[in-house]
Amino acid sequence: MGYKDVEALWNESCDSEVLSLCQNLVRINTTNPPGNEEAAVRCLVDYLKDTNVESRIISHGKDRASVVFRLKGAGNKDALLFNGHVDTVPAGNVKWVHDPFAGEIADGKIWGRGASDMKGGIAAMAVAMACIARSGIKLAGDLILAATAGEEIDSLGAMAVADRASEMGPVQAIVIGEPSYNEVFIAEKGALWLEVCTFGKTAHGSMPELGNNAITMMLPVISAIEEMEIPFEVHPYLGGFTKSINTISGGVKVNVVPDLCAIQVDMRTVPGQQHQAIVARVEEILRTFQRQRPGFSAALKVVNDRPPVATSPDDPAVKLFSGAVARVTGKMPKLQGVAYYTDATALVPAFKCPMVICGPGAPGAAHQPDEWVEIGKLSEAGRIYVQAALNFLAEGGLAS
Ligand SMILES: [Zn+2]
Repeated sequence: MGYKDVEALWNESCDSEVLSLCQNLVRINTTNPPGNEEAAVRCLVDYLKDTNVESRIISHGKDRASVVFRLKGAGNKDALLFNGHVDTVPAGNVKWVHDPFAGEIADGKIWGRGASDMKGGIAAMAVAMACIARSGIKLAGDLILAATAGEEIDSLGAMAVADRASEMGPVQAIVIGEPSYNEVFIAEKGALWLEVCTFGKTAHGSMPELGNNAITMMLPVISAIEEMEIPFEVHPYLGGFTKSINTISGGVKVNVVPDLCAIQVDMRTVPGQQHQAIVARVEEILRTFQRQRPGFSAALKVVNDRPPVATSPDDPAVKLFSGAVARVTGKMPKLQGVAYYTDATALVPAFKCPMVICGPGAPGAAHQPDEWVEIGKLSEAGRIYVQAALNFLAEGGLAS
């Protein structure tokens, strides 16, 4: 057996390291907002400090940071980029059985906020990197790990990494460690969040004819957005486009004609759709009302704009990565798509390369009270990442 096999590299020490690194990360509260990711970044830097992995911290201001680790290869292959975020959603108001920030172990699982989404994935990626670094193997390309801040809100960290894409050099594929229970996701929907405001004029509620009611002004806008047909092609892994008007606000008092009303629309797009074209359609609706209705005044704002991201199932990167999963688990993963977005929406357009999502967390545990990750899945993910690095970066190609 040559060095191209994970079993020669991953040992019991790696199992215990991934367990304690995941616990340590869970114990650092990186609830976003405010984030506080710098402490988690320092924990990762500290873990990798005794290896020859280089680290570069990207500061995002007080207590917030991302980090890019690089294990230098010596060959002509493009880099493989591992990515994961270190922030989490809040623990919420529901009482947890297990302390969300203690990293408790029970029933073969590590419990805590972020265990699944996705400190488990980050821990497995970091240990995989250390495992390869310590082995002394010279890969034929660089292995990079970007641990990012801010994914749960604005992908602040991934945007900063994307800004550095040209100086980071060519990347052949991105592996995102979001929870997939070690299955492989190859497509994610885009998100386009729009806000429409209508502007009227206040008046006493007993004399509405003296005002201009922003809420009634919004009614035809709501109907038009509801009825608007947006063309799309059903994607084999993602299904179709969706839109939903999810917030509405307006008015201050029952006896005051409102001068402001606002709605927010959540649209989820599939490959082939252009966000700019959708925005232009909504702008056209507003312009038409402006022409047709005296006193109509409205403004449109794009609140969030993430393109859909999909990798072809026939892409060599999917084959190489699925091969790594099969090598470790004994079965080929079932390829799937996900409706939510990840840091891939920032990274893929910047690095112009395929991506796969694979991580040890169970998707159903993410963002829930009493979040958990199975210890067995954690080690399995670490071995998958080691094997993936070998498949993508070993001299001579795929392990035989
Ligand atoms: Zn996540």
